[in-house]
This record gives sequence, C-alpha cells and structure tokens, in this order.
Amino acid sequence: MNITDQSAAEIARGLRDKTFSALEVTRAHLARIAELNPALNAYIEVFADAEDAAREADRVLAEKGTEAHPLCGVPIAIKDNILIQGKRVSAASKMLEHYVATYDATAITKLRAAHAVFLGRTNMDEFAMGSSTEHSAFGPTKNPHDETRVPGGSSGGSAAAVAAHLAPLALGSETCGSIRQPASLCGIVGFKPTYGAVSRSGLIAMGSSLDQIGPFARTVRDAELVFNAIRGADPLDGTTLPAFDTTPPRTKRIGVPRAFVADAQSETRLVFEKKLAELASEGYDIVDIELESAPLALPAYYIIMPAEVSTNLARLDGMRYGLHVDGATLREDYERSRAAGFGPETRRRIILGTHVLSSGYCDAYYRKATVLRAQVAADLARAFESVSFIATPTAPGPAFKLGEKSDPVSMYLEDIFSAPANLAGMPAISVPMGHVERDGVELPLGIQFMAPRRMDASLFDIARAARNEA
Ligand code: GLN
Repeated sequence: MNITDQSAAEIARGLRDKTFSALEVTRAHLARIAELNPALNAYIEVFADAEDAAREADRVLAEKGTEAHPLCGVPIAIKDNILIQGKRVSAASKMLEHYVATYDATAITKLRAAHAVFLGRTNMDEFAMGSSTEHSAFGPTKNPHDETRVPGGSSGGSAAAVAAHLAPLALGSETCGSIRQPASLCGIVGFKPTYGAVSRSGLIAMGSSLDQIGPFARTVRDAELVFNAIRGADPLDGTTLPAFDTTPPRTKRIGVPRAFVADAQSETRLVFEKKLAELASEGYDIVDIELESAPLALPAYYIIMPAEVSTNLARLDGMRYGLHVDGATLREDYERSRAAGFGPETRRRIILGTHVLSSGYCDAYYRKATVLRAQVAADLARAFESVSFIATPTAPGPAFKLGEKSDPVSMYLEDIFSAPANLAGMPAISVPMGHVERDGVELPLGIQFMAPRRMDASLFDIARAARNEA
C-alpha cells in the first residue's frame, strides 16, 4: 500500500513496526505535494526543514519505541493563520506576506512535543473570511474531486491537502464552519471543538469569541488523535477550559430540526435522510425537534463576527506588523498600508464591523445580535435536554464552481448550518455522508453532528457509527 494512502493511525503503526521510517513517510508526502500542489494550490509554502523534523522523529522513535507519542513522525499540514516560530504566517493576506512568527501557537507547541512533522502552511481565505478559499491573496485552492470547483473555506487548503493525500492530517480553524464546510466539500472529516477546548494562543484572531482550532483527517479516529494532542487548558488563553471529562452520551437520540434542514438543496436532503435511516438501523433514535432561532444564527453571526474582525484587524496598521506603505502623514501611512494590504472581502467586513459598533447603531445591530446569540444558545440547550445529538447537512450543497458565488450574500449562506454551534460554543463534527453527481463527477456531501458543550468525545462515537469505522 502507498504510504500516502495510509491514515495517521496506520502510519503510526508502520513506524513502530519499522515498515518505513518517518523520513520515508515525509518524503512520500513531499513527492506527492511536488506532483499535485502546482494544480491544487493547497499549500502556500512547503517547509524546507520537514525532512530534518522527520529525522528527529526517527531518532525519538528509535529511543522511545512504543512509548513515543502516536503522532511522532506523522506529517501534518498547518493552516496559514497558526503561528510556527521562525516561519512565515500570512493569513493568506498581502498585509502579512513577509511576516515571520516570533513564537509557536500552543497547538504547535503540543504537536512539536509529540514530534509530529510540519509539512507546510496551507492556503485559506484572507484572515479566514470566506467559504471557498477564493479570497486568498495567493490564488484559490482547487477541489481535488473537480478542479473547476472550490474546496470550501476558509480552511480550503488544509481540506484539499488531506483529501488529495498531500498530508494525512491538517490543522484548520473555525469561526463559523471553516473546518466543517471544507471537510464536507472535500469528502473528509472535520472537527470543531467546544469553544475553549483548544487554546487560541498563536491563532491569528478573526472573531475571538468564536474562533477555535481543530483537525482535518480522513478517518474519525485520526481527527480524535489530533484533538487529544492539542486540547487542554492554557495560561496563554484565559478562555480555555480546564480538562473536561469525556463522559459517554446519555442517550442514542438524534434530534433533526426539520424546518431548518429544509434550507438545504433537495438532493442533499435525500442523501441526509438516507444516512439518518442507516443510523436508525444501527439503533439510533431519530426524532424531529424545533429549533426556532436556528435560522437567526447566520444573520447574528454576520453582525457579531465583523464587529470582532474590525477590532482584531485594527492592529494591522502598517506600523506594528507586516506591510508598510509610506504616506505624507501618519494617517496617510495607515490608509495606504491598509488599502494595499487588505483584499476586498476583508475591507468589506472591517467597514461593516465598524458601522455596527458605532454609536447610534450599536444598539440597533451589535447589541441586538448578542441577544439573538443568547437565544440560539438557549434554544440549543433546550433541545439537548431531550436529545444527545443534533444532525443537519454540513452545507446546503456540494462544492460549487470557482467564481459561482461572487455575490457576498450567496457565499454567506454557505454557513447557514455552521453558525449555531459557533455562536453557542458547542462542538460539532462533519463526516462524509454520500455523493451527488454534477457534470458527471461524484461530489462528496457531509453530515454534521452537534453535541452539548464538553461532549466532544461523544461526537467521535457517533461520527464513527456514521462512517462504519471500528
Ligand atoms: N464562511 C465563514 C465566514 O466567511 C467562515 C469563517 C470561519 O469559520 N473562519 O465568515
């Protein structure tokens, strides 16, 4: 079997059995990247020192044997908004094109301690704003299933890398679906942890009350492996949670918000129903639930997120980090630097966010959105009194064509099923549920499961059941 076809767990076993070395594993992936990345544009940069890291992992494996961390010597791709000390990190923006990280994100510190091998940094929508990776300053990523289509976003590079076997694993980040939606469009597993389960230290901030780092993988087991490696309380992020129990779910009851799911394309709904029927035959109890405020999550998100974006990106003023363009006055320095550094979608959101926070509009927009956010969380909490999981399609449909959603609002609608979990800080996972055909190509679709806060482990159980994974 080809090394690049193996899951992280299989690679870990092969390394222990000495079927191959970490160096061979890394070289196999680098060779495939060299072959396929020019067309896919999943990686913005491949790290020149990946082979050195693999040699170091081989030393650790020789010394520790079976005691080595399960990710020791396993390659992983990193989204270009997660800091790796000494490496460039651009958030796919001209603003930070030449910026070099001065410290490791906590998730990176943990993966480094495990001796995972960082292959490179992956493409994304600029500052993680988008659902297609078309907003990258470095060109779009292509969907490996059909290169005329998008991989989803914002973590499209990470998703495409894992789907095309350019890495067995990747880190992405979510503010509203940026792991789950590209996982769905690329046919892989994507997991968004409970808010606070994984440290945000060293993640370039988008919407701080929503952001969360999480894994991409081709198996549920691999996604869980990465989550367990990067999770935990962190003094560098005051919003992290103390280690929480991995209690089993109380019931096998799955709630389906039928009225909400009606917003998906009809073929997506058919595939979704088929997967639910399969789960029912495996002993899950499928029940209809009301989730009245769920459709309000998206509009609330598109007020709260730009508000946080406008404040988070204020630090990128041409003086402190990244791009600097000289003007006649300090004010002109700011204006020229920001105009040259930020792409159109980023500018749109900064303007929108500044508006919804401005005096006179703050009560009408921002505060109202925070009330809606509380309602969404309360509605979900009420639903979880009677069910252990909530299931919806991950996205309304399969991968769309490059350029198809040039109207920003049509792009925002991709996030309809993602928004509730981010607003409520709840964990959610997307796993492949089937395919639909478009232009003679089979395109993957994902199913999403949500669970109450801290019930992350229960999502891996149900995801495994949905995938028939042992
Ligand atoms: N599609 C979402 C947006 O454009 C994705 C944000 C995210 O999860 N980073 O805001």
